[in-house]
Amino acid sequence: MGVEAHKPLLESIGVDVERHAKMMGMGLGAYQNLFMSQENRPKGMAYFDWFVSEIQGERIAEINALRAQKKPAVGTFCIFVPEEIVTGAGGACYGLCGGSAATIADAETELPRNICPLIKSAHGFKLQRTCAYTQSSDFIYGETTCEAKKKGWEILNKHHPVHVMNIPHMKRDKDLALWQEEIKEFKEHIEEVTGEPLSLDAMKEGVRIINAKRAALQRLDALRGMHPDIMPISGKDALFITQMGFLDDPKRYTQKVNTLCDELEERIAQKTSVFPANTPRLIVLGTPFAPPNWKLHHAVETTGGVIINEESCIGHRYFKDNVDIDGVENEEALYKALMERYSKIDCACFTPNEGRIEKILNMVKERQADGVIYYTLSFCHTYNVESKLVLDAMEEAGIPALAIESDYSPEDAGQIKTRVEAFLESIAFSQKARAFKGL
Ligand code: SF4
Ligand code: SF4
Repeated sequence: MGVEAHKPLLESIGVDVERHAKMMGMGLGAYQNLFMSQENRPKGMAYFDWFVSEIQGERIAEINALRAQKKPAVGTFCIFVPEEIVTGAGGACYGLCGGSAATIADAETELPRNICPLIKSAHGFKLQRTCAYTQSSDFIYGETTCEAKKKGWEILNKHHPVHVMNIPHMKRDKDLALWQEEIKEFKEHIEEVTGEPLSLDAMKEGVRIINAKRAALQRLDALRGMHPDIMPISGKDALFITQMGFLDDPKRYTQKVNTLCDELEERIAQKTSVFPANTPRLIVLGTPFAPPNWKLHHAVETTGGVIINEESCIGHRYFKDNVDIDGVENEEALYKALMERYSKIDCACFTPNEGRIEKILNMVKERQADGVIYYTLSFCHTYNVESKLVLDAMEEAGIPALAIESDYSPEDAGQIKTRVEAFLESIAFSQKARAFKGL
């Protein structure tokens, strides 16, 4: 149907439809160029190609149909949101627009220039009223993970309601107790939106739905990355699927990802690969890739490499752990189970954060990766500073690593490609040297 058919709805939620249509046109054009031109894509990508065409149309209509029944609609920029609670209340929890350079100039009328592009882009979408997800949200979920976000919520709150959860930066018992309280308060806030109590059973059902979604993503992760000679899907497509997991209805999405995984299993059995067997296999580490931030994946996969995994919040960090609700029989036990799952997230906002380095070392080994790219958004101090510890650990383990800092502008695309090219050449050179020495 497309966005045009939903114009009255978009107008009713305050979207600037003309500007929105222009942005959508650019986004869809970029998607067609970067994704649909790839050869030998799995048939299961057809669903995701359809979804992108309805991303700000049919899906927005679905979310607003839920709101009409007083179900909550919660927009977020972080994976600390207990989406199981929103899902249990029958609502929708989704990532908001924040990956485009097109809204940054507007954001800079209210925010400083030298903060991360994700925060500025997201803020600009609200000022421009060009993200239908933001416009559909009963409230925006905020958290205290980094300084720019923490203060940014106070300014964003002047334009749209924001509920902030205080995420601690250490994981001692007293910090975890605070976290559990914050989850309970989040649930109470959801009850304020719906105007009715949320039962334990409903929340447990929300956990089951989101656990199933994460299990499907874990399956996709293993299929794309664990078979050294066969890449049944490109890293770019796999990234896009993960990005859509933050927007789509979780039950439908889980089913579509599992159907695609069935096809990927067949492809592996038939040795159908989208890249030649000796293509250098890279893992990307770092900050999240909000769509349409596809710059790095595109650079790698058009330069002779493949990305087999993202150690990122739009990636492994998001789906690696499920919530264990075995034996959970009261609300406090459920909040504890949620807190335990969420506190396993190894965001760089924590100190210490050694678990992240151990996880990266395991991921490289398990997936037989040839190297890593440590990717950070400009002015993201947490990930930028932590890169020293991660890159030192890579060096010690003999894992080739490249650090890239970038924003959302297209200007450094050529420079990134040149650096990736040199990195891939050095990997190929050391592979040949090892083969020569018989290692
Ligand atoms: S990197 Fe940290 S703050 Fe950013 S989305 Fe992930 S968990 Fe949230
Ligand atoms: S990318 Fe870094 S600076 Fe930007 S919002 Fe996330 S943690 Fe904060």
